[in-house]
Amino acid sequence: MSRDIVQLLPEHVANQIAAGEVVQRPASVVKELLENAIDAAATHITLAIKDAGKTLIQVSDNGVGMSPADALLSFERHATSKINTAADLFHLTTKGFRGEALASIAAISHVSMKTCRMEDELGFEVDLKGGQIIRKEPGVVSKGTTVGVKNLFYNVPARRNFLKSDRIELRHIIDEFERVAVAHPQIGFAFYHNDDELFGLEPSNRRQRIVGVFGRKINEKLVPITEDTDIVRIEGFVGKPEFAKRTKGEQFFFVNNRYVKSGYLHHAIKGAYEGLLQEKQHPTYFLFLQLDPETIDINIHPTKTEIKFEDEHAIYTILKSAVKHSLGQFNIAPTLDFRHDSKLDTPYNYKDKAPRAPQIEVDRNFNPFSDNVVSPSTGGVKRMPQFKREEQSWESLYVGLSKEESEGFSKVQFESEVNTENLFYTEAEDRQHAGVFQLQRKYIVSSLKESMLIVHQHRAHYRILFEEFLKNITVERGITQQLLFPLILPLNPRELQMLKGVKEMLEQIGFQFASFDQEQVQISGIPSSIIDTQVNAILDRFLADFEQNVPKEELDTSQALARILARNASIKTGISLNTEEQLSIINRLFACKEPNLSPESKPVFIRLGTEDLDKRFK
Ligand code: ADP
Ligand code: MG
Repeated sequence: MSRDIVQLLPEHVANQIAAGEVVQRPASVVKELLENAIDAAATHITLAIKDAGKTLIQVSDNGVGMSPADALLSFERHATSKINTAADLFHLTTKGFRGEALASIAAISHVSMKTCRMEDELGFEVDLKGGQIIRKEPGVVSKGTTVGVKNLFYNVPARRNFLKSDRIELRHIIDEFERVAVAHPQIGFAFYHNDDELFGLEPSNRRQRIVGVFGRKINEKLVPITEDTDIVRIEGFVGKPEFAKRTKGEQFFFVNNRYVKSGYLHHAIKGAYEGLLQEKQHPTYFLFLQLDPETIDINIHPTKTEIKFEDEHAIYTILKSAVKHSLGQFNIAPTLDFRHDSKLDTPYNYKDKAPRAPQIEVDRNFNPFSDNVVSPSTGGVKRMPQFKREEQSWESLYVGLSKEESEGFSKVQFESEVNTENLFYTEAEDRQHAGVFQLQRKYIVSSLKESMLIVHQHRAHYRILFEEFLKNITVERGITQQLLFPLILPLNPRELQMLKGVKEMLEQIGFQFASFDQEQVQISGIPSSIIDTQVNAILDRFLADFEQNVPKEELDTSQALARILARNASIKTGISLNTEEQLSIINRLFACKEPNLSPESKPVFIRLGTEDLDKRFK
């Protein structure tokens, strides 16, 4: 007997399948609920989550609310108040339109909704479990809507098991929250995680909102941009090149106030920064594009972050030239373009030091042929005759570093002052004396038994600090150097969260934190192998890198932390070292467990034996 085998999927199965598209992780739920609250014209929205959203995600708004019938209907698939006809799709000004978010979320969790319209006395409450209504009744509810989502993926164990650590899931949620908060500065937001307030954002303008979200220190980095053409209006901010990060930091495109990803437009921006950024540096931008909704298609991706433009090429060109123009203006007249109003926020001027540090990491204009002439201005000539330090303290390794930083701008003058003869004499004498010398401010050359030893200075120091930090975390606490005046490190909420997560390990390494508050930490003690003027720069870069490389397994965290901190704290190529420092590096390196390889598994030194040399002289 033959039988028709095509059948419609039962509603709850269809919803679960749809859920797979819409809800990848707790952050997806956060995004959908926040967007619904915005579409409901809320002026204040509170997000509260527990255990990175795995236990609870709750969004409360003071928006228009729903009637009991609408509240029930909102959980039906394809139930939306936002479009009626397919043509409506092209005039969208709301976030949602597919009408499947609530149905999908409800299918894979326990949802409770409380809602009340402005005009109603009594509100309405409804609870669902796996998409089935288990309770509904009128209730006294404050105006607006609260949706609580508990036990996400309780009936999809595969999904639940694939959730990452709380720290990673929280990071995704913060990402979503930031996008929504930055796009809607006129709306007030509060965000709680396990009763910690992560963000408290008052209604404000765009610049203030960006500062509220990313911390006060971003203010001075922003250059405003506006461009009005027939097809697109561009507003927002781009980051000054000098503050560019080595990690992909804040890069935001909003099209008609919706966060989108666009590799194509990103490329336009990178083009505008051409020649202004060093290799591996990334521009910061917050760009708001307004276009006629009929000229874009945001409906090509279920989670709605991809976009198609009708006039892609023109937008590319306009965007690139607008960014170029803003950057150019700022270069000519920096003081006209932005306000230094955050100057007074941080005592001791440490704030100013932090962002400058990346400039000295690698001396890209470094001319190998002038090395012998220039290098002593930062080290050799000035230091050598004066300091013959007895002890080989680790701080001494940083003398070059801090000097370079403070003298960065006066290099040119030093050049003319250098006494070349003296220099050669000093270095030569030094070589004889110690049997080590530095090559191109990159390698330390020495002899070892029958062979010649060439050590990569940065990788060597990286290895040394890595082992030291790792030992501090796992075996014995590092030595703390007390600071006379605590350092203030301004942080944004996301950095603060991250720092809290690794606070104990940093304390093991030797950091001491006097206080944590919403916007900054006070550092009262630092590891003895880091010098105080470098701390803010090192921690700043550490947090940026750590965020990009958050380890997947908790076990890896101490390794990753030691590695990233060591990388940022180690001396770089381009720094000149005196004899003591060179010797010190070599000695400490060979006291390491694995001196051969850097923590990133690159060779740290090479040895040329006499046989190797003999071969070459054949
Ligand atoms: P969409 O947002 O695509 O319309 P959703 O499933 O997210 O689909 O929501 C379905 C409907 O429920 C919305 O169209 C809206 O009418 C209503 N709704 C959802 N959340 C809220 C809220 N916070 N306040 C008022 N109405 C809401
Ligand atoms: Mg929606």
